[in-house]
Amino acid sequence: MRIILMGPPGVGKGTQAVTLESHLNVPHVSTGDIFRALLRTEDPIGIEVRKYLDHGLLVPDELTNQVVTTRFREQDVHKGFIFDGYPRNVFQAESFDKFLKEHNWTIDAVVNIAAPDEDIIKRLSGRRVCPTCGKTYHLESNKPKVDTLCDVDQTPLIQREDDKPETIKKRLAIYHDQTKPLIEYYSKQGLVITIDGTGTIEKTHDLTIKALGEIK
Ligand code: ADP
Ligand code: ADP
Repeated sequence: MRIILMGPPGVGKGTQAVTLESHLNVPHVSTGDIFRALLRTEDPIGIEVRKYLDHGLLVPDELTNQVVTTRFREQDVHKGFIFDGYPRNVFQAESFDKFLKEHNWTIDAVVNIAAPDEDIIKRLSGRRVCPTCGKTYHLESNKPKVDTLCDVDQTPLIQREDDKPETIKKRLAIYHDQTKPLIEYYSKQGLVITIDGTGTIEKTHDLTIKALGEIK
């Protein structure tokens, strides 16, 4: 299956992708995760993208498309994928459509997880991540087992630089302005499934699985 996860920053795309990945047995590809991994290296692209990530701005399209093309050199995504965080504007969506067409691939569904901005702000401000393995937690809704230590490797959790209040506002504005129009873009292709993302993580998972089951 080839799926694109859509929705505002912090709605729970990454959280859902982890369980969907094992349910559907296709890899989760997050451009945000790829960029954050580049930040941890000495790679010149990492230095270039930091100025965008830390300030909540979109990385330029050309660089983003290049990162996606590089990811497609790996074979695992050829059997299917769950894309999370890409495409993020109409230009990227058009480039991705062209790329898919060249490979004779089609998207099965665009899963649009929806929640109002008030919920999003709570989720983003309480998000904590493990700097070692990348696992995501929340101070109230998705707590680690012990204090603020990662369940997997006991590393102290941190707050992402772009989850600070001022940057959250900027990211939400960019979402409304540039990413939300993609719902219309993919609706025209008959691909959008909208999921109520206001419930618990488990509830959202169940709704997603049910909706995907109906299109198979
Ligand atoms: P969130 O999970 O909060 O929506 P992501 O992890 O998807 O955030 O993205 C974090 C940051 O990585 C973005 O704010 C942006 O700087 C960069 N980024 C990720 N995907 C893209 C993309 N498709 N186009 C441009 N920038 C991107
Ligand atoms: P995204 O990938 O869309 O940016 P995340 O999956 O990182 O979002 O989730 C953002 C934050 O909200 C995390 O702290 C996560 O633990 C929490 N979260 C995710 N889904 C839910 C939910 N349904 N209810 C409450 N909190 C959630």
